[in-house]
Amino acid sequence: MTKTNKTLVTGGAGFIGSHLVEKLLKSGEEVFVIDDLSTGSLKNIAHLKKNKNFHFIKGTILDSQKIEKLAKKVNQIYHLAAAVGVKTIIDKPLDSFLLNIRGTEIVLNAALQYKVPVLVASTSEIYGKNDKLPFTEESDRVYGSAYHNRWGYAMSKGADEFLALAYYREKGLPAITVRLFNVIGPRQTGVYGMVIPRFVQQALAGRPITIYGDGYQTRCFGYIDDVVDALIKLADNPKAIGHIFNLGSDEEISIKELAQKIKKLANSKSSIAFIPYAKVYGEDFDDMARRKPDLSKIQKFIGYEPKISLEESLKRIIDYYGKKQDAR
Ligand code: UDP
Repeated sequence: MTKTNKTLVTGGAGFIGSHLVEKLLKSGEEVFVIDDLSTGSLKNIAHLKKNKNFHFIKGTILDSQKIEKLAKKVNQIYHLAAAVGVKTIIDKPLDSFLLNIRGTEIVLNAALQYKVPVLVASTSEIYGKNDKLPFTEESDRVYGSAYHNRWGYAMSKGADEFLALAYYREKGLPAITVRLFNVIGPRQTGVYGMVIPRFVQQALAGRPITIYGDGYQTRCFGYIDDVVDALIKLADNPKAIGHIFNLGSDEEISIKELAQKIKKLANSKSSIAFIPYAKVYGEDFDDMARRKPDLSKIQKFIGYEPKISLEESLKRIIDYYGKKQDAR
């Protein structure tokens, strides 16, 4: 059992949130979820509804009264609600920017009123176009032109990180920030641009696998179970308070290799198509060439090692989508 027994998860109907909630409920916690269902889905939490320790509140983190009422009831907050996915950020830059900054400020402020520890989910996007790999928590953040909507996401999450640190340093709020590196697993949707659910569904349906750009860009994909375990361990570790952590996998792969791997593992006859970024995200789009975390800090604090390899993760995700297709 973890040390807390009543927990609030903002964004708990999302991909990462729903897995976290599941794990917290399994360990006997009472869990409150607030989610506006903008990118989260009731389907993600349908199987949890019968658990008497599970409470779902449909609402936005911009509703400070609701958030304060919830903060009063709990002794741990995981703040995961945010505008999510490159597509969302490009399509709705203003809403995304404001939701991430105002929403986080509201959550931190409510937490402070009732002295509730908060874990704030941030993102590897924060490192931007820095090309000195791997990224440590101290690495510089390098952003492109202000005209490129994409950087609004990194800027907004950067503001969230500063807010969490300032609430900790100036007000004593026990806050932890975690930079998530391309988390993958069942329930993740490809609708907001995420590459693995898109490639897997394309491969299973025999449609072309759509690589954006030349496919030489790299990412590291962390499996959801490893990530959720680590989030709980960090929240349970008083030494982690006031710190920022990278979390994910450090197994780097190019998007082209990823497409080939998924095609092979899914036994697919799909072709592989290369699509210019401009066609997908418009002319003013910037991608990052490589992204890889240094995981030594989180390893030192909670003994974190990613247990599930990329190959195993892909097999599980292919299996998940395969079953979903069969069920249709
Ligand atoms: N990507 C791709 N085809 C797709 C979706 C994404 O080639 O159908 C690429 C995307 O351009 C990026 C990488 O895959 O280089 C990871 O994209 P994702 O949106 O999953 O995450 P992020 O860019 O935030 O790391």
